[in-house]
Amino acid sequence: MAVNELLAQLHEVAASPKKQLDKYLKEGKKVVAVTPVYTPQEIIHSMGLVPMGVWGADMEINEAKKYYPAFICSIMQTVLELGIKGEYEGVSAIVIPSLCDSLKTLGQNWKYAVKDIPFIPMTYPQNRKPAYGIKFTKAGYERVIRDLEVATGAHFSEFALAESNKIYNEHNAVMREFAEIAAEAEITAVQRSDVFKSAWFMLPEEHTAIVRKLNEELKNGPKAEGKLKVLVTGILADSPNLLKTFDENGIKIVADDVAHESRQYRTDVPDMENPVDALAQKFADMDNCTLLYDRDKKRVDYIIEQAKKHDAKGVIVLMTKFCDPEEFDYVPIKRACDAAGLMHLNIEVDRQMVNYEQAHTMIQAFKEMF
Ligand code: SF4
Repeated sequence: MAVNELLAQLHEVAASPKKQLDKYLKEGKKVVAVTPVYTPQEIIHSMGLVPMGVWGADMEINEAKKYYPAFICSIMQTVLELGIKGEYEGVSAIVIPSLCDSLKTLGQNWKYAVKDIPFIPMTYPQNRKPAYGIKFTKAGYERVIRDLEVATGAHFSEFALAESNKIYNEHNAVMREFAEIAAEAEITAVQRSDVFKSAWFMLPEEHTAIVRKLNEELKNGPKAEGKLKVLVTGILADSPNLLKTFDENGIKIVADDVAHESRQYRTDVPDMENPVDALAQKFADMDNCTLLYDRDKKRVDYIIEQAKKHDAKGVIVLMTKFCDPEEFDYVPIKRACDAAGLMHLNIEVDRQMVNYEQAHTMIQAFKEMF
């Protein structure tokens, strides 16, 4: 299949998650919603359920305002809005991790606002690396397993989890390979985003099969020339309106540190005797993310290192409005970019944004500085 056909297939999925949900339900599968940023999708998958990402949508917020003040991130608000409006009808449960204060409130609000879809909490420890932290994570996963069994009637087996761990590791590898190939290939920012976004609405083995073919085609296809190379960081970078401006200004994303994109695929499940232990170890091994406790802010060094490795000339921070964890990291990122001689740009993004004029002007001005 040609590159354009593969990209069109992924675009279709990225643009219509509801269609994917209906497709899986029609096939007789049970779907479990997973919210940002990390949930044990491997466990859900191993129980024969379909984990489907819910990261909100670009839309107006009405109903969720009854539960949230205006100054909370719009990802949370729109997830709740979509839940209240019945967009997730047919979903068997929703897993919400406790990784930031907004996420903690989402679970509590969900219980009252969307009564027909059971809320399953996943409580992660702050100190994820010491043995007691790993034990805590494992206990959290065991609770998720019990709650999933009650909510869906599905059964858990260690054997099936070991298989799912392998399937997710394969998907990770293919997505990491895609990010590297896309840095060189002639592919737009919008198309790149479709590849990452579609992963949230497909079974990993189905997505792996398509992206593997896409990687082969892109490897042998034309290379992008004469573009301004940048690294993009933030929680989300999926707005086609914003990404079009990158393409119109000849800006090429050569690497990302985006929670919705590459942060998901950096760490594999290690090979261990017990697959639940292995999954808990994976969480302990994860790093370089705003949502993961890091007193030394190693994420900042990681961004600079990745930008240099990919020959990026600048760093674009897509700052989700009212996201405290990301806002705290901005000053160290700015300082590190200055010290490394990298240009940087901070663009505030919001799910309710309809007018991108200001962002367009900022991106244009950024381009002209080179
Ligand atoms: S990390 Fe930021 S964007 Fe994500 S849920 Fe929390 S506040 Fe919202």
